[in-house]
Amino acid sequence: MTTTTEPTNTDTPQTGGTAIFDSLESQVRSYCRSWPAVMTHSQGSTVTSEDGREFLDFFAGAGALNYGHNNSALLEPLLDYLREGRIVHSLDMHTGAKREFLQTFSDLVLEPRNLDYKVMFPGPTGTNSVEAALKLARKVTGRQHVLSFTNAFHGMTLGSLAVTGNSMKRKGAGIPLTNSSKIPYDDYFNGVVDDFMWLERVLQDSGSGVDKPAAIIVESVQGEGGLNAARLDWLKALSDLCREYDIILIVDDVQAGCGRTGTFFSFEEAGFTPDIVCLSKSISGFGLPMALTLFRPELDQFEPGEHNGTFRGHNLAFVTARAALETYWADDSFQKDVQAKVTEFRAGLTRIAERYEGATVRGRGFLTGIAFPDASAAGKIAAAAYERGLLVETSGPEDEVLKTMPPLTTAPEELNRGLDILEEATASVLGDGNPA
Ligand SMILES: *Cc1c(COP(=O)(O)O)cnc(C)c1O
Repeated sequence: MTTTTEPTNTDTPQTGGTAIFDSLESQVRSYCRSWPAVMTHSQGSTVTSEDGREFLDFFAGAGALNYGHNNSALLEPLLDYLREGRIVHSLDMHTGAKREFLQTFSDLVLEPRNLDYKVMFPGPTGTNSVEAALKLARKVTGRQHVLSFTNAFHGMTLGSLAVTGNSMKRKGAGIPLTNSSKIPYDDYFNGVVDDFMWLERVLQDSGSGVDKPAAIIVESVQGEGGLNAARLDWLKALSDLCREYDIILIVDDVQAGCGRTGTFFSFEEAGFTPDIVCLSKSISGFGLPMALTLFRPELDQFEPGEHNGTFRGHNLAFVTARAALETYWADDSFQKDVQAKVTEFRAGLTRIAERYEGATVRGRGFLTGIAFPDASAAGKIAAAAYERGLLVETSGPEDEVLKTMPPLTTAPEELNRGLDILEEATASVLGDGNPA
């Protein structure tokens, strides 16, 4: 057994550094290549590295930290739970923590929104939730084909990859990815072609060569695929079309859900109810792995154990998930606060974008960023931001979009500080542009 002090000692820059990552960890690692600092502490919207540098975190664990790092409203119940010797791992047995989570989820999320969903706990990741959704849709309809959208991202396991757009990620499958077709996402043709007609025609035309799908899977905002935000009436029309043709509509809210777009679910304002909803990233609220697949009761057709897994619904995640719902979703004050901050923040992004010819603000809510006409600009700006103490990512098929997703709990001063750093970082790469 090692003691707890030893690892701390080996973690110093003198004896630690990054050599072990280079020598032992697989080449597959990615985020650490852009952000090589060794991170040791985090609080709220700030991450601290072992050499004492502080980074403002506008990446938020790719959307897994909507309530910030080490949020005390979640941390305290978690610590209490552990200290009291309560059950941590329990497969899918009945536990007190699960009961309390389900009750709170029903009371604060489903009921107020009039959503009649069954709750399934797949394995604890987003791609697990998507796999469960696809399997269920195929089982219920008896059809194999699934339609998904250009630039979609749904996860890295084979079923999810088959409905994902990115060619590099698809290639990694090593086998043909079948039983799915891509259709144009909203505004794929820049308004030149009404992309919706395309889908309707394909479904109507028995000669289109597109098999009648079991399901259509869609993101309201494409988090990885370039921050494309579908119009709300486009989403509603998609839902209507699915109803008309008896196709199951799956909304993948893994990244855009849990308040990221300003409402708990990304589709709330669009006025339709998906048949299946995938949630993960921020559902535990604390960055603990957890996922849900929600579906209409009529779709509850898996046999007991037909989609199984060792870590389906982890009690520690239930504890923080419930605390997050009670802290932030018991009434609409948090939602209103987020929406007000989003308005300010987007105005700041717009001010930066307006200085550069062809740059546009993309996305919705706090899943937003700037697309630059020079595809290499966003990566360079993200690197310059890192040097100045800000973590921001890129998105899109060519990494051409600078992506910002601060924790929803980020204070207005911190949002402004982040915008200042972004402005400086952008100017360091593209020059001052046209002053407003
Ligand atoms: C992150 C993400 C996934 C995959 O989640 P993992 O936990 O990485 O498996 C699926 N869909 C969307 C929209 C995502 O953003």
